[in-house]
Amino acid sequence: MGKVISVANQKGGVGKTTTAVNLSACLAYLNHRVLLVDIDPQGNATSGVGVEKGSIDQCIYDVLVDSVSAEDVRTPTMVQNLHAIPATIQLAGAEIELVPTISREVRLKKAIDEVKEDYDYVIIDCPPSLGLLTINSLTASDSVLIPVQCEYYALEGLSQLLNTIRLVQKHLNKNLMIEGVLLTMLDARTNLGIQVIDEVKKYFQDRVYQSIIPRNVRLSEAPSHGKPIILYDAKSRGAEVYLDLAKEVVANGERVR
Ligand code: ADP
Ligand code: MG
Repeated sequence: MGKVISVANQKGGVGKTTTAVNLSACLAYLNHRVLLVDIDPQGNATSGVGVEKGSIDQCIYDVLVDSVSAEDVRTPTMVQNLHAIPATIQLAGAEIELVPTISREVRLKKAIDEVKEDYDYVIIDCPPSLGLLTINSLTASDSVLIPVQCEYYALEGLSQLLNTIRLVQKHLNKNLMIEGVLLTMLDARTNLGIQVIDEVKKYFQDRVYQSIIPRNVRLSEAPSHGKPIILYDAKSRGAEVYLDLAKEVVANGERVR
């Protein structure tokens, strides 16, 4: 049965989508069957794995709002072993349209549960908010992976995220765990990065991944080519570290089991 992991942080630009895309692709590269679910109306994870927006008939919006099955919406990607459920800008309306509906928090969970056994991992790329879409994601997930950018105020806002996680645990999904905290966009040339690493490790202790994602130009170029880093430049530092992260995620899962 697939393990479902939300990549979440309500701050924008911390590396959620980059992580969701590249962790998914690296897990698939390691021969795991992976489903990447895009629930950000921006649809950057969708284009990041090469799914053309123009080619999309139905997207995650139809799953959440019109109860179309995930099986009908998922699509293969250019990466072997990697399927995606795409998002389009249509999803921007879902947050409001879902408000008056029944079981609005568990719609994504229901949809994913139906296809979960086809995968080893389901990775969900969350939008930069703690609204109904992110709540759906946390409710559908076994765990949450939190990217934290190595910047000033790295920990700012995380208490809100942790509070939301606690509320979801209390009311919607008591099994939700913290998968790990991922430090992203480290600029090794500055002391600031080192300070942030210390600060985040003090707070989250052994839940911080050993793999730390460096700032890497190849990682920022890959999306404009519609490719995950292992297809765009397998020899780059970015590809190496995301592959290390994928191995850590697999190993952690085995430790827990
Ligand atoms: P989020 O999904 O949290 O908003 P993104 O993954 O979209 O964040 O990243 C924000 C921007 O930073 C994007 O332009 C992305 O290409 C770039 N980026 C992300 N991670 C890295 C990295 N490790 N090195 C360089 N650029 C990165
Ligand atoms: Mg994003």
